[in-house]
Formats: sequence, C-alpha cells, structure tokens
Amino acid sequence: MKISAISLYGLDLPLRTPQVLSRGRKFDQFKSTFIKIDTDEGISGWGEVCPWGSSYLPAFPGGLRAALMEIAPQLIGQDPMRPEVVVRYMDRILAGHIYAKAAVDFAIWDIMGKALSRPIYDLLGGKEDNPVPRMASVHLDSQSHMEAEIEQKRAAGFRNFSVKMGRGLEADVETIKSVTERKRAGELFIFDANGGWSPHEATRVMNAVSHLDTTFEQPCLTYEECLHVRTRTRQAISLDECMVELRDFVRALSDRGCELVSIKLARVGGLTKARAIRDLCLAYDINLFMMCMAGTVVNDTVAAHFAQTIPASRFCGAWSCQDYITVDPAPMLGARTVNGHMPPPDLPGLGVEPDLTLLGDPLAVYNSMQ
Ligand code: MG
Repeated sequence: MKISAISLYGLDLPLRTPQVLSRGRKFDQFKSTFIKIDTDEGISGWGEVCPWGSSYLPAFPGGLRAALMEIAPQLIGQDPMRPEVVVRYMDRILAGHIYAKAAVDFAIWDIMGKALSRPIYDLLGGKEDNPVPRMASVHLDSQSHMEAEIEQKRAAGFRNFSVKMGRGLEADVETIKSVTERKRAGELFIFDANGGWSPHEATRVMNAVSHLDTTFEQPCLTYEECLHVRTRTRQAISLDECMVELRDFVRALSDRGCELVSIKLARVGGLTKARAIRDLCLAYDINLFMMCMAGTVVNDTVAAHFAQTIPASRFCGAWSCQDYITVDPAPMLGARTVNGHMPPPDLPGLGVEPDLTLLGDPLAVYNSMQ
C-alpha cells in the first residue's frame, strides 16, 4: 500500500466559555487542523491536531500547518502499514515539530485499522478491562464557581478532576483545602498548576497542605524545577507539560521524579511514540492520565482508543475537549462521554470521520501527480 494523496483542512473551534490557566493565559478559541491521507488501495485515514492555543506548549496552529505542508509532499509513496518506519522517516526529513507529525501518525493508524478490519485499540496491544473514565478539568474562576463546576461534573458521573491552580497562593491553598474536605470515596483530585509556580511558590503551597492526601501536577515550568520542589515536599507529583520525548520519561522514572504522568498524544508525537511511553510507564507502575491535546471528537476518539489499552488499575482518566467547543464536525459519531466515561467505537480504524461538508475547502492538497 502506498500513500497517494494528502489533504489538509483547518477548522476554528470557538469555546463555549473562555478557559483560564495560570500565568494569565486565557483561551477563547482553538484552531484545529485535519489531515486526510489517501492510499492507492482506496483506503483513507484521518488525523487531527489542535494545539491549546499558542501559549500553552511550544506548539501553535500556524507552526503545525507549516510543518505539515513541509512534510506532506514527501510522504507520497510511503507505506502507511509501517508506522515506525514512517515516524522515523518524518524525523529524518524534519527535525522536531513532533506535534505536527502526530497528525500523520493518527491517520496512518486509522488506515491500518481499516485495512485490517480492526479497531485501533486492538492494533495498539488490545482491549483492557478499562471503562475509560473521563477526567474533568476545572479552570480558574472564583472558588464558588469552581466548586459548583465540580458538583455539576460529579452529578454527570465524573470521578476524576484536574483542578487548576493559579489564583494566588492563599486562594490556591483555600481551594485545595475546601475541595479535599468535600472529596468523596473513589474520587481523584489533581491540583494542576500547569507550570505556573516558581519552585518557592510551589513549595509554600504544597507544604501549607502537607497534612492532606493530595497530588500536584506540573507545579513548575521545567522538569528540573519540579524535581527540586519534590526534594522539599511530601506529596505525589504528576508530570505533564515537560514530558515530550521518550527520553524525558526515562529520565523522570529513573530519578523517581513522579508518581503519575500525563500523556498528551499530540505532544509526544502520536500513537506510535505514545505506545512506547505507555509501556515504559506501566513497567515502572506509574499511573497515567491521557488525552490528545485540544480538538474535536476526532481527537477524543484517538485518545479513547489509546486509553482502552491501559489497565484500569493504572488509569486515572482521559480528558476530552468535545464538551468545551461549539463545533462538531462528526455529529453523533466517535467516542462520546456517557455517564463520565468515554469508550472508543468498536469499528475498524478510528471509527469516526469528519463530515467534509463541515470542514470546507482544503488548505492544501498533495498527490503523486504533482
Ligand atoms: Mg495538566
């Protein structure tokens, strides 16, 4: 099988309500990019990557599209049934920009699943006994609003929460105490600073609640800062934004630098690379959060397939973006949240495709005739 054509599409995703993170980052809209890869055997695969705006990670929509336009014409003629080979090829022809390469990787796994008549989760190692619980993020707002949002999500069946930090040290401590007091049996709360604290600030907040059984995610911007904080505090730490390449995970696990990690499939370069990271983390008995990044139900469905391959005992939840956006390019299809869970469809490949009429004209098309 050979890749015969590649089409790129853009789609703006306005948010239902603005989302706020530490360091004054506010998001009103995301810009998603879709890739459709056609083959000479008539099978097509879809991928999507949608950065969380331009200020969350070193990944932004314009860079993503420029990288894909650089790679796409060079992928014509490649065999999509060899994911590791294609991923190494992409790393050879363009240094870095692995979040853009993730779009190609997702589409290749969709093609493989369709060609073999198997869901992606089967190709990634097989279906675990995991009902794929969702994780709810609770963004920065007044404490009463944040607590009301937790109640609302709790009523909808959610049990795993990522509560954002960044309202100021005293307010953050108050939120942690209040939320932890109201925590119910079976619930998991992660207090996520998204890299917003200095090591000194992180140490002060964490030590102010050292009597509570709490977990903190990405307290500081860099791995080294998080590791420093770890030597001066006692709580469990989850690492997220600073974990990109497999070597980052190897180092953190060797250092005993965390109890949990968050794998964002687009950030780490796609399913092929995430599969190796998953296996490494499971070998070290590390618990996993995961998601794609932002995006539509197409991305959420990729995340659901990957989540389905993680044993329930090590799985802390999958985040999904579909509830936050006002646009749905695949209405009623794909992995949908029902009673706080998001299982993948039992269909060949990804099991969801965007409606072409909702995507509009392609940004670019590449084929073997050019
Ligand atoms: Mg996080």
